[in-house]
Amino acid sequence: RKAEPAGPQQVPGIDRILAIASGKGGVGKSTVSANLACALAAEGRRVGLLDADVYGPSQPRMLGVSGRPSSPDGKTILPMRNHGVTMMSLGLMANEDQAVVWRGPMLMGALQQMLTQVQWGALDVLIVDLPPGTGDVQMTLCQKAKVDGAIVVSTPQDVALIDARKGIDMFNQMKTPIFGLIENMSTHVCTECGHEEHIFGHGGVAAEAAKLGVPLLAELPLDLDTRIASDGGAPIVVSKPASKQAQTFRALARRL
Ligand code: ADP
Repeated sequence: RKAEPAGPQQVPGIDRILAIASGKGGVGKSTVSANLACALAAEGRRVGLLDADVYGPSQPRMLGVSGRPSSPDGKTILPMRNHGVTMMSLGLMANEDQAVVWRGPMLMGALQQMLTQVQWGALDVLIVDLPPGTGDVQMTLCQKAKVDGAIVVSTPQDVALIDARKGIDMFNQMKTPIFGLIENMSTHVCTECGHEEHIFGHGGVAAEAAKLGVPLLAELPLDLDTRIASDGGAPIVVSKPASKQAQTFRALARRL
């Protein structure tokens, strides 16, 4: 009998894997992951969120989950669940103010463990919140698991876009399809006077998407409610479902 092919494998029970990536940190990748996961759940999908942002795992806080996941059989890990989303995060394995000081091979091992040893159950979609950049975690994910598509989040700022381009190039090299780009912090509308300002510039991500021939999936404003909701453990899709931002995520979830 020939050895199994070493290429990307379908993870049993998981229908589709969707990776959320960014070139730089702090552009809103985790915010998009959390809201998209909640939006997919609200649309009736069975959704999981794997927080693989090893350097800043923020999903426990954003999804309002705490405590250590248990392992009744000592082999597999039971995921956590909130807002209809099944989730697992490296952040649940360490204290919030503890740094993850693992080297590449350990990170890759941890990712694989989170993919295969967590009892995800049957999922329509698993969202993977990746660390920023183009490192070991991103490559391991694309090599080991069949990733159906990636969404790249960027602000319109040039420095963010340059790094986002590198991320897109990496997915192209790994032959992972790109579903599209999301422009976050697109604009800021003053809550006092309604004046609109483009703090990080405007249109950069749309222009990049057009150049690459991939869809611009959404333009999200820099918005106080979005930030407060994430910090409070109930993403805006859950805490303010009628808001424009929540509706944008719901519409995006219906497209995926
Ligand atoms: P990343 O995952 O790319 O590092 P985060 O999603 O953690 O970025 O976002 C960084 C910070 O910016 C967080 O405090 C988050 O609440 C805030 N933030 C992200 N997107 C928005 C937005 N559209 N409006 C307001 N605050 C935002």
